[in-house]
Amino acid sequence: MDLQIGDLLYKGKAKDVYQTNDPELVIIKFRDDITAGDGKKKDKLTKKGYYNSIISSKFFELLETSRVKTQYIKLLEPGLMLSHRLDMLPLEIIIRNIAAGSLVRKFPFKSRQEFEPPIIQIDYKSDEYHDPMLNDDIILALNLSTQEELKRIRAITLRINEVLKGFLKDKDIILTDFKIEYGKNYRGEIVLGDEISPDTCRLWDAQTFDVLDKDLFRKGESNVMEAYQQVASRILNSEDKNKWNLNF
Ligand code: UDP
Repeated sequence: MDLQIGDLLYKGKAKDVYQTNDPELVIIKFRDDITAGDGKKKDKLTKKGYYNSIISSKFFELLETSRVKTQYIKLLEPGLMLSHRLDMLPLEIIIRNIAAGSLVRKFPFKSRQEFEPPIIQIDYKSDEYHDPMLNDDIILALNLSTQEELKRIRAITLRINEVLKGFLKDKDIILTDFKIEYGKNYRGEIVLGDEISPDTCRLWDAQTFDVLDKDLFRKGESNVMEAYQQVASRILNSEDKNKWNLNF
């Protein structure tokens, strides 16, 4: 059966999800839109969708080889990702190796303080409620997931962090923190979905501590795409670069 793109299922702040003629498959389109602060700060950055889709696909492939189940199937072309359909949980799972961002603003942690073991934080994904931090009792009372699922989500998240942290360390990048989202497949299994990109991670140069992620946009800097390109350039091998015609 030839795959055909169908109706728009969901439009997010930076990605669109399309139905296909196979009910189990969706196509995720990575757009160039970038937002911060609940979508209040907005812009379009040329080729952001292109780079984020390639970076996400690299991370997903790496995780799949490390036995983490993901939504990802393949990139049809940069910007268009073929994926398994999931029912997404309205949870933002944040894992932190180093104190930064809202954690430092809200709690008396020292900036750049290291966490071993890492801190897992779960926020309610809701622009209306401004993504408030959850705890297990609230998650259970809102029926957002079960205790079993939470246990599984925490275990997979720690595993993902270990895999990505080690991979990035070899590329001279510190994985400070990142946000991931999970969904359930047609069998009811918890599967990693969404994206892993400089939009959703804090990535610092290991030598200079230069920021290589969306914090540049949050701070109004102009070199956002240069940083995203730098991440792509460091994490992709020559085979990946040839495949996507990238010459840096
Ligand atoms: N993050 C995200 N989407 C969100 C909130 C956070 O991708 O809606 C990511 C963010 O890029 C960072 C990590 O999760 O890598 C932790 O973010 P934090 O809670 O410090 O919030 P922020 O400072 O971004 O408001």
